[in-house]
Amino acid sequence: MFRFLDSILGWFSMDMGIDLGTCNTLVCVRGEGIVLNEPSVVAVRKGTNIVLNNGEAVGIMAKEMLGKTPGSITAIRPLKDGVISDFEITEAMLSYFIRKVHGRGGWRIRPRVVIAVPSGITAVERRAVIDSAERAGARRVYLVDEPMAAGIGAGLPITEPTASMIIDIGGGTTEVAIMSLADISTCESIRIGGDDMDEAIINHLKRTYNLLIGEPRAEQVKIQLGSAAPLEQELTMEIAGRDTISGLPRKIVITSEEIREALKEPISGIIEAVTRTLEKAEPELAADLIENGMHLAGGGCLLRGMDTVLANATGLKVVRADEPLTCVARGTSVYLENLEIWKDTMDHSGYGWS
Ligand code: ADP
Ligand code: MG
Repeated sequence: MFRFLDSILGWFSMDMGIDLGTCNTLVCVRGEGIVLNEPSVVAVRKGTNIVLNNGEAVGIMAKEMLGKTPGSITAIRPLKDGVISDFEITEAMLSYFIRKVHGRGGWRIRPRVVIAVPSGITAVERRAVIDSAERAGARRVYLVDEPMAAGIGAGLPITEPTASMIIDIGGGTTEVAIMSLADISTCESIRIGGDDMDEAIINHLKRTYNLLIGEPRAEQVKIQLGSAAPLEQELTMEIAGRDTISGLPRKIVITSEEIREALKEPISGIIEAVTRTLEKAEPELAADLIENGMHLAGGGCLLRGMDTVLANATGLKVVRADEPLTCVARGTSVYLENLEIWKDTMDHSGYGWS
């Protein structure tokens, strides 16, 4: 009876799917697609947990504020390493995003929310995410593992009795998972991702040229010039920074070859996680992968040649998902469409009447 009522309510509530990423948070609404895509950043007063602008300095606004008022303000990425470093700030962020999406269009019934979380987070962290979303106004909260959502978003047959493999390279973490029959069979989550590539670029420029650059600029170098495998046409780029010896601004020209060399360490970390996961796979599922290959998702897989180096290291076919940055969010929206079928298999907030 209550199940039936809940389904009816479902028609009137603005149910949401959330990809709570280490770099970016995306929210999609049933029937509407992705309605929010903002950095997972919160601006707080230095040394406190007080979110600026009455709790509104989150996402794009937090990033904008930072450029303008340095000093007393710190940017926090509460999920930076795929674990929740600060529960209060994570809650403030989640709550802001849910309210921002739900606030559109006036009064509504409280939504059901499907949240994709890194598979490495602990039971306590999972509970904290559920509680935060409830406090932010969710009627019910369902958690799904990020690789499952990524697999669905990439259009893989994860419910079938055959192996699907996903490598989701995010900002703070990379998740490698082999799935079959709607379950994760083998997985590994490592704390290496796009952020570590940015850091490797910063360190290279500091060591080789005594040139100091910030994270945003390092990310720009990675996107414009970065690669994992040799390019048909190698590239160069001019980059400005501060000389660590004279303290003055300086410009240099860098090449794609040297950036590739600098990126070797984080990239081999990712390759090792992939080969380790393959070694642990059930033999039957490993055999399926010869046919099915592996699929790449997450922003980090956009690095040029990432597919090539993974194919070379494993001998498997590698396919980059369409729109890898939105894969997980699109996966959560498929969960939303099928909530009646899936909900009992997901970690969720228990109501007495479910
Ligand atoms: P998360 O799920 O952890 O929030 P995302 O899947 O949103 O992470 O990916 C963000 C990462 O992808 C960042 O490190 C970003 O620099 C990187 N990224 C985005 N576009 C590109 C690109 N074209 N080439 C290389 N890296 C990219
Ligand atoms: Mg992600």
